[in-house]
Amino acid sequence: MPIDLPRVFVLRRDRGCRISSIVLRYGVAMTLSDARDGQDTIGVFDILRSKILSGELPAGTRLNEKALSDSIGASRGSIREALRRLEEREMVTSRPNAGARVTVHTPEDVIESYFIREALEGLAARLAATRITPQELEQIRRAIDERTEMHSIIVQASRNKRLISQLGERHFDLLRKLRMDFPHMHTAGPDSFFEHEMIYHALKIGDPVLSETVMRQHISRLRMSVSRKFAADERTARE
Ligand SMILES: [Zn+2]
Repeated sequence: MPIDLPRVFVLRRDRGCRISSIVLRYGVAMTLSDARDGQDTIGVFDILRSKILSGELPAGTRLNEKALSDSIGASRGSIREALRRLEEREMVTSRPNAGARVTVHTPEDVIESYFIREALEGLAARLAATRITPQELEQIRRAIDERTEMHSIIVQASRNKRLISQLGERHFDLLRKLRMDFPHMHTAGPDSFFEHEMIYHALKIGDPVLSETVMRQHISRLRMSVSRKFAADERTARE
């Protein structure tokens, strides 16, 4: 049985709604016992990660190992390992004697994350200006036109592996979770569209200083806009 679990798979459930097998994208089925023998931690991690990122397991939800093991149909060991990996990503928080919960982030966490993004994504844009390929520029063009995520393409185009690892899947997962917890962060307005255009053109003409400046200004404006919304919420709550 092939054991190399691709990231995209579907779960087949039996009549009792227990997961009876994992059907791989290529149509190869693997029973759970096969998976348990091999790498089912990867599968469990992906299942829990997507439940958190989709809001099915909202912030504060208690994550009971036994209940998760029963509902997902995986061993408690692999649940524990998946929770540990999610904790490394700040998506799960465990406390002694209190168990694990989906992390509750605060407005301060959101503002802090914007400051880090401003510095690191600004650097990514500066490096990308002289390293980006025509194909990546084309991907950014398409992402802007289709209003899809374009920041991760710039991070990859920086060709700096330490920066890529800092701003990798973990960074964008955390952003997705924060956006889920704080709808204020939905910022795909006309200002963002215009700023994305400016970033694209700065990269296209290969100007590192301009690319960094417009990226920093974009993220700084997002931070200030979110910060104003939090302040307004606080005022409303006090009234
Ligand atoms: Zn943006």
